[in-house]
Amino acid sequence: MRRFILFLLVAFSTSSIILSQNIQTPSEFLGYDIGTQFSRHHQVVDYFKTIAAATPQQVKLEQYGSTNERRPLYLAYVSSEANMANLETIRENNLKNTGILSGSPTSTDIAIVWLSYNVHGNEASSSEAAMLTLYKLLTERKDLLENTVVIIDPCINPDGRDRYVNWYNETASQPYDIDKQASEHHEPWPGGRANHYLFDLNRDWLWATQTETNARLQVYNKWMPHIHVDFHEQGPNEPYYFAPAAEPFHEIISDWQRDFQTQIGKNHAKYFDAEGWLFFTRERFDLFYPSYGDTYPTYMGAIGMTYEQGGHGMAGLGILNDEGHVLTLVERLTHHTTTGLSTVEIASKNATQLNNEFAKFFDNSNLKYKSYVLKGNEDKLNSLKKLLNKHEIQFENANGTKVSGYNYTNGGQGNMTINSNALVVHTNQPKGKMVKVMFEPNAKLSDSLTYDITAWSIPYAYGLDAIASTSQVNSSKLSERKALQVLNDAYGYVSKWSSMDDAQFLAELLEHNFKVRFTEKPFSSNGSNFERGSLIITKGDNRHVVDFLNTLNKIAQKHSQALTQINSGFSQTFPDIGSPDVKLINRQKVAVLSGEGTSSLSYGAIWHFFEQQLHYPLTSIDTDDFSSINLNKYNVLIMPSGYYGSVLNDDHMKKLKDWVRAGGKVIAIDGALRSFAGKDGFSLKYKTSEAEDDPDNLTAYADREREYTNQLITGAIFKTSVDRTHPMAFGYDDSYFSLKLGSSAYSLLDSGYNVAHLNDTKVYSGFAGKDALNNLDKTLVFGEERMGSGSFIFMADNPLFRSFWENGKLFLVNSIFFVNNNAYEL
Ligand SMILES: [Zn+2]
Repeated sequence: MRRFILFLLVAFSTSSIILSQNIQTPSEFLGYDIGTQFSRHHQVVDYFKTIAAATPQQVKLEQYGSTNERRPLYLAYVSSEANMANLETIRENNLKNTGILSGSPTSTDIAIVWLSYNVHGNEASSSEAAMLTLYKLLTERKDLLENTVVIIDPCINPDGRDRYVNWYNETASQPYDIDKQASEHHEPWPGGRANHYLFDLNRDWLWATQTETNARLQVYNKWMPHIHVDFHEQGPNEPYYFAPAAEPFHEIISDWQRDFQTQIGKNHAKYFDAEGWLFFTRERFDLFYPSYGDTYPTYMGAIGMTYEQGGHGMAGLGILNDEGHVLTLVERLTHHTTTGLSTVEIASKNATQLNNEFAKFFDNSNLKYKSYVLKGNEDKLNSLKKLLNKHEIQFENANGTKVSGYNYTNGGQGNMTINSNALVVHTNQPKGKMVKVMFEPNAKLSDSLTYDITAWSIPYAYGLDAIASTSQVNSSKLSERKALQVLNDAYGYVSKWSSMDDAQFLAELLEHNFKVRFTEKPFSSNGSNFERGSLIITKGDNRHVVDFLNTLNKIAQKHSQALTQINSGFSQTFPDIGSPDVKLINRQKVAVLSGEGTSSLSYGAIWHFFEQQLHYPLTSIDTDDFSSINLNKYNVLIMPSGYYGSVLNDDHMKKLKDWVRAGGKVIAIDGALRSFAGKDGFSLKYKTSEAEDDPDNLTAYADREREYTNQLITGAIFKTSVDRTHPMAFGYDDSYFSLKLGSSAYSLLDSGYNVAHLNDTKVYSGFAGKDALNNLDKTLVFGEERMGSGSFIFMADNPLFRSFWENGKLFLVNSIFFVNNNAYEL
């Protein structure tokens, strides 16, 4: 049955050549029938270039960025000749319609539809569909372009796509093998889903940590489309999934956005019903976590949707699935082409209404909180400003000395004293709803069964004190940052230690061979007080540095680092600079485990952190090579989250422990703690819940899934108690808000240091099931256990998760450079 349909499709494509002699079909261009091979990224790009060159009046191609592996990122603007001649006016009219640009639009009858393909590299049918969709829009569905501008991103994630396609091409049999056990259906670690740094780009829209996202957001915000579709694939046994989405919906989603999703879904259903194709709606993919390709556009006013075809990295060119059906790439791309065209069709039919309803979304006069006020460390405020700029969200400085409202630090009503540095983000701006989503203390959850984390509130993630105010707080234009003083000749220079900027400053000094000290005790000198962790650079330590003062000035300026000069090694309150409590920082040699057993996401976040944030060298070691590598070349070994059962056998565990006893440091993150909990020689232990809701086990079959949520924590924010005197916590206050991703709980360490722990199970934001919550009291968040001269450092919560929890990152840097600081040279 389905083979017959495919035959029809191919026949149909061929007949449409007659319609437009100068427009090549994808199959003609590629030299094979589309879907019978995977096209490499450059072939997809070349097809778009060829079509743009053949029909310049209707297709405009724009390179908007490039990937880490230097592949180009392209957008195609596709519309009628008349619209294309008027493209900039259409864009400006749309922004005027939202209030982002001032003035009244001259017309609002063009729909703007943005189709994003292949965000997950191994969901590879969608870039094939992008080519066929472009072709069909220019030929048999040309009518739709009269009142729509279609923006096509044929591949959001070229590095991931080519990783998948190249692997498949070198692995697959000819003809392809439909046996699901064949190697061509099993991608090796890390798979093609993620980008170069192994980030999931469909979790990155809001945090914009990746170069692809940053480039895309610049164009997205210039256009603000009415509809955005993110094309995906799910397992090969699943049918097709399209809108309407599942609960929970975030409360800011308007009735119109809900209704129109249903209209779109019904339009798709019409085509699927006609062919007898299976599909489902309203289950599984919800609209809550704001960093997806469906939610982000939704919170920016669009109808944001995820379409999921059965297939995925397992499916290859063809696979016999568990329902006895041979699912082919041709079939997968046909479905995606159908929904893409159906989306443009319904947008075209409702273009004026889409514009009218889109404009209404940008009225933000009814939001409960009018202003969010944030204060704290200047570096942290600056990194927040950078994030807001990426989304073109406006902010100002607060006026006055005190604000009141919801106090994030206490989790209740309260006041906060402020100075002129305090930042205000108002909700009465066009992107006010996104402001609400990012900043509100606790997003309202209509259903606890969700696909992702339920908390992300910005003040907690950035470590800032904040107030959410129901009345608009007075504010004025941002004050300029003061210029840094140039350093003069002195005995030494002291830098505060409290932010990632400070960490980057240290990393660069070490890379320039500076000798840098840090203090384990507070001291004062020249009338200034310095906290634990402050960095000290003395002239005496750095005689070997050529042009010392000049170089230090340059590095300090580059990192906006305001250093304090001290004129003597004698401190007013000790320690003195020569004290044993003021320690030389070793230029640590750091390695990280990668490959089978490790979580590619966790590994990728560490890789990205070192290369793109800290700018400090990192050696990646494959777990397959663990038995042969010489650990003595490194001071620190980071174990990303993962399952190390087969990696850490008895011999390897002994090797690791021997290395630690001799002075090595292991930093184990999240799931990596399982390798040590309850094991011989470790005081790390699981804490298990005894609570049982249904001792007789009589919960009905249909209620089991919901009952299970009692045991879940789906990304919730807790306040931890911090031992500020421990080097791992230098730069932090005595409390720290942590994002807990799951319900795993570890008892406090009997021997060792409990650097951050939970003794308050109040949930500040997000969802935590009651059984999981009961088990969290007095549990470990961050700790250190010594073994011989070395240490195991445990991070039960992963501060690098998706790289957006800015305030957790210094714990990792401290662990590397300050904890159990063995300044031995390798
Ligand atoms: Zn996907």
